[in-house]
Amino acid sequence: MTATIIDGKAFAARIRGEVAEHVARLKEAHSITPGLAVVLVGEDPASQVYVRNKHAQTLEAGMESFEHRLPADTPEADLLDLVARLNADPAVHGILVQLPLPGHVDAEKVINAIDPAKDVDGFHISNVGLLGTGQKAMVPCTPLGCLMMLRDHLGSLSGLEAVVIGRSNIVGKPMAQLLLGDSCTVTVAHSRTRDLPGVVRRADIVVAAVGRPEMVEGDWIKPGATVIDVGINRVDAPEKGEGKTRLVGDCDFESCAAVAGAITPVPGGVGPMTIACLLANTLTACCRANGLPEPEGLTA
Ligand code: NDP
Repeated sequence: MTATIIDGKAFAARIRGEVAEHVARLKEAHSITPGLAVVLVGEDPASQVYVRNKHAQTLEAGMESFEHRLPADTPEADLLDLVARLNADPAVHGILVQLPLPGHVDAEKVINAIDPAKDVDGFHISNVGLLGTGQKAMVPCTPLGCLMMLRDHLGSLSGLEAVVIGRSNIVGKPMAQLLLGDSCTVTVAHSRTRDLPGVVRRADIVVAAVGRPEMVEGDWIKPGATVIDVGINRVDAPEKGEGKTRLVGDCDFESCAAVAGAITPVPGGVGPMTIACLLANTLTACCRANGLPEPEGLTA
């Protein structure tokens, strides 16, 4: 069997298009423009790239983008002041504080200072609790993107066996909650799981969020299963020339694609969905703040 490749790049473009259409309708009918504030502290190169992409895609969707770039030695109190100002600003519907934060800042304290209704990353403890109890929450972007791809590819997920590898707060745990919300039978595996290949072999849906290059092998995959590879790992690529690198996922793509029914590639799978879902969450937050109906198909 050769797997269908789930094209996250194309799917993300479709989501961004739907968001942009909805934003245009909001402007037209209600004179409301959704606004996203992104806060970057310090000079982390990867974070700078993410923030640049978020800014560009926010503007492309017709939203307002407010960038706040602060020096690495910004005191925690100043950051908390900025968050308080953004919480109070009616033009700001979504607030994202780019992680990681410098070591002298308590990231949890800052995240939990964000108004949960504007917490478009879905990391605030209130949103974690709402998601865990099956209530309307702001949902973390990467797992939301994975859920959208699974629904798009499989339709109903009800009754399917899902194995999530990884139990982080930003991917593994919220992913498991979302799959449970869609009535999957969910197993969360991690570094202490005994017989990981045996656990993964049960799965109709595998979500790998580990951070270990090409760890999941084809003979772990149940024939026909849907494999969502969240991992982004940079490895040496001597075949491309000295010192060159390439990105790979947590799944060994060739061997998994030979057995799976469908699989997301790396790059071009889950990655592009994350920012698309950030825009979708900002739109959702804006609609909720204004008592307007939420966009269909863009929330959990
Ligand atoms: P974390 O490092 O926070 O969590 C990794 C998880 O994998 C942990 O729960 C850990 O278990 C588990 N793990 C580690 N080794 C093994 C192993 N040998 N067998 C089974 N489980 C193992 O990572 P994140 O969740 O933040 O990210 C995971 C991957 O997803 C990374 O590659 C990251 O770059 C990528 N990512 C991609 C995004 C995107 O937009 N596409 C967004 C976010 C992340 P334990 O808890 O026991 O230590």
